Amino acid sequence: MIKIEKLVVGLFKTNCYFVYKEGVGVIIDPGGDCDLINKKIEELKDVKFLYVINTHGHGDHTFCNKFLKEKMNLKILIHEEDKLFLSENSINKLYHPGFEPVYPDILLEDGDIIDVKTFKFSVFHTPGHTPGSILLLTDGVIFSGDTIFKGTIGRTDFEYGDERKMKESISKILNNLWGNYVVYPGHGEKTTLDEERKNLNYFLKML
Ligand SMILES: [Zn+2]
Ligand SMILES: [Zn+2]
Repeated sequence: MIKIEKLVVGLFKTNCYFVYKEGVGVIIDPGGDCDLINKKIEELKDVKFLYVINTHGHGDHTFCNKFLKEKMNLKILIHEEDKLFLSENSINKLYHPGFEPVYPDILLEDGDIIDVKTFKFSVFHTPGHTPGSILLLTDGVIFSGDTIFKGTIGRTDFEYGDERKMKESISKILNNLWGNYVVYPGHGEKTTLDEERKNLNYFLKML
């Protein structure tokens, strides 16, 4: 079984997840409070973290990328369509004071498998909240970023958001993900996919 630990970081109370199994792991969405993230890594000293995976490019999910890449030597993984958020002139610099650009090491696309040695993630592209938003699937679990929350879905009214694509992504989720996954969102409490199907169907009609 994979182990999942959560830290709530930054002004937007983003869920940063430490996911690991048998001494190897990844950090999902290190969006702020880099010192707390650092402390957690020290606490988990028996775990070798290989990758940072961003569910999307917003600064509240990527703020500590640079710190983790440069200080901890972790590779940064993000969907190719969200790499613009990490660049020199990205909007993150505007909305997240202190945000520092960093080049991703591996660009992801739909269907990619991320091999963490003791377990794997598959990448499920769900544009809408941002062009390169993804779900990360592993072992009966979904890390849903800002696409699915408990009882609601992610906003599409930010720059680069797209309501029509969000609708397509929700259809894709409902039509392709049949298991009752435990869903770990980018903000707030965890939920399950079965619990959310009703809401997702509702949003599909409303959007
Ligand atoms: Zn976001
Ligand atoms: Zn967010």
